[in-house]
Amino acid sequence: MTANVAEEAGDEPTENEPETALETARRQLARASSHVDIDPAVVDRLKQTRKIHEVTMPLRRDDGSVEMLTGFRAQHDSVRGPYKGGLRYHPEVSREECAGLAMWMTWKCAVMDLPFGGAKGGVVVDPKQLSSSEKERLTRRFTQEIRSAIGPTKDIPAPDMGTDPQTMAWIMDAYSMQEDETIPGVVTGKLPAVGGSPGREESPGRSVAIITREACDYYDYDLEETSVAVQGFGSVGANAARLLHEWGANIVAVSDVNGARYDESGIDVDEIPSHDTEPEAVTAATGVGTKIPNAELLELDVDVLIPAAIGNVLTEDNANDVKADMIVEGANGPTTFAAGAIFNERDIPVIPDILANAGGVTVSYYEWLQGVNRRKWSLERVHRELEGDMLAAWESVKDEVDERDLAWRDAAYVVALKRIAAAHEARGVWP
Ligand code: NAD
Repeated sequence: MTANVAEEAGDEPTENEPETALETARRQLARASSHVDIDPAVVDRLKQTRKIHEVTMPLRRDDGSVEMLTGFRAQHDSVRGPYKGGLRYHPEVSREECAGLAMWMTWKCAVMDLPFGGAKGGVVVDPKQLSSSEKERLTRRFTQEIRSAIGPTKDIPAPDMGTDPQTMAWIMDAYSMQEDETIPGVVTGKLPAVGGSPGREESPGRSVAIITREACDYYDYDLEETSVAVQGFGSVGANAARLLHEWGANIVAVSDVNGARYDESGIDVDEIPSHDTEPEAVTAATGVGTKIPNAELLELDVDVLIPAAIGNVLTEDNANDVKADMIVEGANGPTTFAAGAIFNERDIPVIPDILANAGGVTVSYYEWLQGVNRRKWSLERVHRELEGDMLAAWESVKDEVDERDLAWRDAAYVVALKRIAAAHEARGVWP
């Protein structure tokens, strides 16, 4: 029986309504479930977040004062394995945002066929206002507060906005001290000295490049004749741009928060330092092409546009002005619902984030495997395995596109949902 949950849910937003991450995630579930034969009870389960842990905790500031902070860990679904997802420190973290992002992680892990479910957590705090020792105290206290909820077979946090490999190393240490043994598998994205995987940092950008290459092949573009504009030159954008450049693509535009550099004949992206070593290096590179605004980069007449900076940059206001023939989502959620509908109408394929940038969580899975097995992989092995896993995911999504005539995003959600639903149906309901 096909569940017509899209109508039942009553959560199709109007195009002008701003929507929360949870609403978006629920709507995507509803759309995907309308394309597949799935027990409506399973869809009902997936609409809910299994657990949301909320804690309040004191942080002693360096000046001796004590501030109360709130933190969350949302755990959406674990039918295929332990919960997995980032931990962010940001003033706008909320219970609902964590729940929505946790659901997204469930789909992302399932589309990659990783044995994980989805989680997301965060602390409501501005990390720019914290010294390093305040951040360390906060991280250790938060780890203690959620210690019973996390663990290498329960829920495995990773870096996200405002947290980094050092934060993960502190979590690993705090957790390990309480358990009285060293447990590297409790987090991923750690510093290499304590079991961080080779290739983890560049992996979301690498997967964006692999998926762009495959998409070009699918649509019969010769990569060496393909022009590419990349918004954002950080971890995702710079790594994707460098690899595509190495594989022969013509990167004609890149950008940072202050603007873009454009050269129709191509930019040597190896010449530009990335965001982590030199923020705003793109606009500072005065010898490279001409400076244009970020908004103009999105509307360049290129073969492939890769938005890899922030969410909600492709909206109903600019979607009709986009001249790219294809969009590959490097950032999470760069395309709004309304813009997606316009691209569908205009026959512009949009390869979704949950597939394109999933190299990050995939190499996190490799790091977890290395941690629980106490065995280190080489960078070559990480690259080889990632290539294989990205191609397998690409093939699964492509098959749904070809067989059901779906848009790429819907096809990716269908792949994920079928896998999650099959696991729920196999495990059944207890008691
Ligand atoms: P980053 O901080 O390393 O780089 C962000 C880049 O975007 C920088 O060049 C910055 O100058 C630019 N930028 C920031 N604000 C901008 C704006 N308003 N307009 C244009 N450019 C702007 O970030 P990142 O890790 O590369 O992440 C980029 C996106 O990819 C985010 O949506 C993130 O959630 C997503 N993502 C990251 C990872 C990861 O592991 N790093 C994994 C999956 C998805």
